[in-house]
Amino acid sequence: MTSFAYTVHPARIVFGTGTLENVRDEVQRLGRTRVLVLASPGLAAAGDRVEKVLGPLAVARFDGAAMHTPVEVTEVALGVLREHEADCVVAIGGGSTTGLAKALAVRTGVDQVVLPSTYAGSEVTPVLGETENGTKTTRSSPDILPETVIYDVELSAGLPVALAVTSAVNALAHAVEALYSPDANPVVDGMALDAITRLAAGLRRLPADPHDPEVRADLLRGAWLAGTCLGAVGMGLHHKLCHTLGGGFDLPHAQTHTVVLPYAMAYNGAAAPEAMRRIAEALGVGDADDVAGALQDLVRAAGGPVSLGELGFPEAAVDRAAELATQAPYPNPAPVTRDGIAALLRAAWAGERPGGTGTVRPARITEQVVKTFAGAADPRLRRLISDLVVRLHAFAVDNDLTQDEWQQGIDFLTRTGQTCSDTRQEFVLLSDTLGLSSVVDVLTNSRTPDSTPSAVLGPFYVEGPPELEQGSDMARGLAGTPLHVDVLVTDTADVPVADAIVDVWQSNEDGFYDVQLPDLDGPVLRGRLRTDGEGRLRFWSILPSEYPIPTDGPVGAMLGAVGRHPYRAPHLHFMIAAPGRRRLITQLFVRGGLYLDSDAVFGVKDDLVVDFETRTGPTPDGRVIEGEWRRLGFTFRLAPDALEHRP
Ligand code: NAD
Repeated sequence: MTSFAYTVHPARIVFGTGTLENVRDEVQRLGRTRVLVLASPGLAAAGDRVEKVLGPLAVARFDGAAMHTPVEVTEVALGVLREHEADCVVAIGGGSTTGLAKALAVRTGVDQVVLPSTYAGSEVTPVLGETENGTKTTRSSPDILPETVIYDVELSAGLPVALAVTSAVNALAHAVEALYSPDANPVVDGMALDAITRLAAGLRRLPADPHDPEVRADLLRGAWLAGTCLGAVGMGLHHKLCHTLGGGFDLPHAQTHTVVLPYAMAYNGAAAPEAMRRIAEALGVGDADDVAGALQDLVRAAGGPVSLGELGFPEAAVDRAAELATQAPYPNPAPVTRDGIAALLRAAWAGERPGGTGTVRPARITEQVVKTFAGAADPRLRRLISDLVVRLHAFAVDNDLTQDEWQQGIDFLTRTGQTCSDTRQEFVLLSDTLGLSSVVDVLTNSRTPDSTPSAVLGPFYVEGPPELEQGSDMARGLAGTPLHVDVLVTDTADVPVADAIVDVWQSNEDGFYDVQLPDLDGPVLRGRLRTDGEGRLRFWSILPSEYPIPTDGPVGAMLGAVGRHPYRAPHLHFMIAAPGRRRLITQLFVRGGLYLDSDAVFGVKDDLVVDFETRTGPTPDGRVIEGEWRRLGFTFRLAPDALEHRP
């Protein structure tokens, strides 16, 4: 059992898009009435927006925050705050502006509402670092913690890509070090892992999709969680080293974190194997031993800095920095030695791949491939193909795929393609039996809650079916229980849809479609009909039966190899098209039929299981039938066409 102590820092978090608009409500919630607005120098326009929303609550403005919270700047801001008798500060900007808000709050007791525009994480920590006469000192107190943090994805979206990359790695560092902190606890671990997953996902996609709100939301949410880790548990070597390099050598904050993190991880790797395994998993890196190198690959692919040299740190300063960084002892998984830190800094100065042997790693290949899609003009294509490659590579890595296995996969796909013809679609069958067709179908249908559920097209649809008259018999005399179909087509407001084109197809009594029976004369059990002026459609057919999907091809072999049966529950296919309506592809299943709960293509939906009522005696159109016949009644509701298009 692991023992731990965990302190929760009380703060209110408001997260979303456009949440800047809540700033007045949040100040009033705190019971404050006189606000000093602090905006980062580069964020004057956002500062103006905040002032506008605050209205008369905004009594003063100060835009002069500087990196590392110089006390001289705080003194000037303090003068403004006192002159206007402010009882609250609203800070909009990065860690520097948050730092100024904290410095003012700890001196005067004013409340703080912070709107972070970077991923630094300072807004959720009770820690303040201040610089006076060139020396940076850090203190911690509950009075330093901002009362309210408003995360606005829109605001952070303005952060230029280069700054966003380094800021996100800065956040990543908090989560990484939390996982091997001596104060680690289950709550913080959970936040750290989620933070790493989101930050890595955001970093991977940021260069190709810098304006995608989902990417920015992942990064901002990761930053909040990572910042919370920073505020909750003690940090190790990485943070101490960055503090030394930032304070002692005037290196830029987030960029320094970005370069150093992979080297600090490599340094601690052997001493914290379990943390590294979890970090690798959250980062999506298959080889935990290479997690540091893989992180650097990710940074490089995102366009971030990878060497201290490029940040202006002189090689000659390595020994001095190592000395400064090892003066005071602090907890860290691996012992912190002067020689060890000097070697780390030398490698970081040169940008050598940490922990690497120079061999090509899968993660690097993945990044390289994804990068090649950055120029694709269609953003949807770029996203789909990039994500497909990432997941395919991860599949290979996570399963340690062998050459033989992948060759088998290629052979399988080749046979699948070769099995396709004008009347047989083995790829559709593959997609169906893997459930992918139904997943896509569910995604599509979930956007049309009032309309009839859709179902997969299946492999037996044939373009251009024969035109049939209303009332005709689609079975053309084939054996089977006669079925009278009498259905209605309406829109979602129950208004009948006249002249809708309805394609219908089904299997015969033995479970075969016409295209599977070359000896059969022409298309049968399929046809195209039109609804009448009242949206109704009536025709005759026969009761469909359960049937096996074709098992003589590679898909059948796959089902056999995994011990699955190939049967589909009995059903009738419909494809309904009408101007101004979304095309509906669906199936109606025979209630009481076999395999309803184990359909081979996962296509059965409860709303599509209907009664095919058993009847005897007179038929609706006077057709004379000896013995039993069935009747199918149903109302199809078509969605408006506009839903066809994705937002
Ligand atoms: P920063 O606040 O200095 O911002 C970096 C630059 O980006 C600035 O020029 C700023 O004007 C600009 N900027 C910020 N947001 C922008 C946006 N959305 N669009 C365009 N430009 C934007 O840098 P930072 O990395 O956020 O913070 C670093 C500071 O925060 C350091 O002083 C560091 O010590 C401190 N910090 C403190 C803690 C803590 O817990 N006390 C935690 C993390 C960082």
